[in-house]
Amino acid sequence: MRYEEFHRWSLEDPEGFWAEQAKAIHWHVPPQRILDDDNPPFRKWFAGGETNLCHNAVDRHLAERGDQLALVAISSETGVTREITYRELHREVNVFAASLVELGVGRGDRVVIYMPNIAEAVFAMLACARIGAIHSVVFGGFAAHNLALRIDDAEPALLVCADAGMRGGKVIPYKPLVDAALAEAASPPPRVLVVDRGLDPGMARVEGRDIDYAPLRERHLGSEVPVAWLESNEPSYLLYTSGTTGKPKGVQRDVGGHAVALALSMWAIYDIRPGQVMFSTSDVGWAVGHSYNVYGPLIAGATSILYEGLPTSPDPGVWWRICETYGVRTMFSSPTAVRVLKKQDEAWLKRYDLSKFQWLFLAGEPLDEPTARWITDGLGKTVIDNYWQTETGWPVLCLMPGVELKPVKFGSPGLPAPGYRLRVINEVTGEDAPAGEKGVLVIEPPMPPGCLTTVWRNDARFLASYFGHFKDLLYSSLDWAIRDADGYTFILGRTDDVINVAGHRLGTREIEEAVASHPAVAEAAVVGVQDDLKGQVPIVFATLKAAGSDPADAATGMLRSVVDQLGAVARPSRVYVVGALPKTRSGKLLRRSLQALAEARDPGDLSTLDDPAALDEVKRALARGSDA
Ligand code: ATP
Ligand code: MG
Repeated sequence: MRYEEFHRWSLEDPEGFWAEQAKAIHWHVPPQRILDDDNPPFRKWFAGGETNLCHNAVDRHLAERGDQLALVAISSETGVTREITYRELHREVNVFAASLVELGVGRGDRVVIYMPNIAEAVFAMLACARIGAIHSVVFGGFAAHNLALRIDDAEPALLVCADAGMRGGKVIPYKPLVDAALAEAASPPPRVLVVDRGLDPGMARVEGRDIDYAPLRERHLGSEVPVAWLESNEPSYLLYTSGTTGKPKGVQRDVGGHAVALALSMWAIYDIRPGQVMFSTSDVGWAVGHSYNVYGPLIAGATSILYEGLPTSPDPGVWWRICETYGVRTMFSSPTAVRVLKKQDEAWLKRYDLSKFQWLFLAGEPLDEPTARWITDGLGKTVIDNYWQTETGWPVLCLMPGVELKPVKFGSPGLPAPGYRLRVINEVTGEDAPAGEKGVLVIEPPMPPGCLTTVWRNDARFLASYFGHFKDLLYSSLDWAIRDADGYTFILGRTDDVINVAGHRLGTREIEEAVASHPAVAEAAVVGVQDDLKGQVPIVFATLKAAGSDPADAATGMLRSVVDQLGAVARPSRVYVVGALPKTRSGKLLRRSLQALAEARDPGDLSTLDDPAALDEVKRALARGSDA
């Protein structure tokens, strides 16, 4: 079947299409209704069906591929590689599940997982799925305050962490961050399960609260825990977005729709069949990690490679060496990672046998043409940009080599994935934007399987955040887009402001709040400015409360506030103390103008500017240099 035909089938006969795709997974009880769309935009895929993600990812493969590698966890930081077969994975997941049960975790309970890219993170996720507990993985780079916010929203029964992660040869202790987060949280879990890697010998334990995993594992070796059969629409996991509006949104995923969408994407988009090898360089704390390091490849009966470390260490050939060693067919990474490699000798791309290597998929941010060309030419392989969001859980725009590979157009993530009816509409009129004209990318309901079902315990926020922008319950991606005459979509950036620092998405609003929490600060504006290496870095413009406080002292204090609350990754590269910030007459900060000036561009439309003197202040501050 050709791409157009396949996509048309998914839109014209969604129930027939998805009923067919649902055959790829095991159902304990088959779905009673393929689509229950009685209460849009809430929709139930595979209603009445009962299944289990862990069963589909692990148990189902035992008979045929028990001795095949399921997971290869490689750390270039510790130098340890762990090769885990499906049989071993089954054993470890059962042991972990038995441990969770012993600690009182049951169906519907939340478990926060705060771990680096190690095999135990995968065991913990699958163990939760096995018993019907809802995991909420928090990226290990997040500071204590961020972790505390997520804990308070999820109200977990248990937190699972590791003693430490490593980055660039440096041990990053996680446990002190967990301790600080639990001290700050209003609803701390009663227990913390610690996987001790032996990286932080001085790790402190709280008597009666903290439990070491190793002895628990010993005790439960050989345990078998029956899978909990869940109705297709029960929650499987929560994953918090970075949150431009301050409080992060708990994206909630279902069970059956999630499994079916991933199963389809594995063969149709990523072109991976059972027994083949996929290497996603993501962290388990991101949506890509959930979908394409854990659930997708395992549901497909493939081998998944999990990597802890930098793309350049011990040398810039490390990823390609892994591809040669394990015969990787499909690799999934980010434009940021490729930009890091681009600083290295191109010869590293040619040093290894990549005869099994077929596709490099990149996602997470716009893929600029020079970067796309560099990696395409360097590897001599097809590089496929794909666009999606934490909310969707799998691609919205992509090319589908497993069905039919349409031509790559540099700068575009391609064409709609199956089940997505996409439009680009004028943000004011709500009418379809003609080809070549900018608009907002929206998804027409019903959203396909795999997409978020709601925001955790906050249907109102789900409705307001995504469906309140346009009529007809259109889902707004909150991204600008242009569609060309061939139907290829180009993504132009967000309709709200997020900074992307080396692949980490930070809400400007979050950083502003951290800056503004410094006692000397009256008001702060944070914008992202271009940076060759990191993509973007945050810079701060702030006004001080008291005339007379020292700008340099205040600026240093602001940096400290940001690092303390959000982590080093959010550290602004420059701080400008000014007398006034440019605002519109209605009182909104003119962030776009600030950003333009900071990048030495034209500040654009200033017709709404309230006080021109504020703009002059900013120009003077930029000319003078950073206060920190
Ligand atoms: P939050 O919603 O909390 O602000 P976020 O949107 O930064 O967080 P993600 O869900 O990881 O977090 O990112 C999805 C966004 O990343 C998309 O909405 C889009 O802006 C951008 N993006 C992802 N893939 C691509 C791509 N291939 N091309 C261009 N932009 C992309
Ligand atoms: Mg978003």
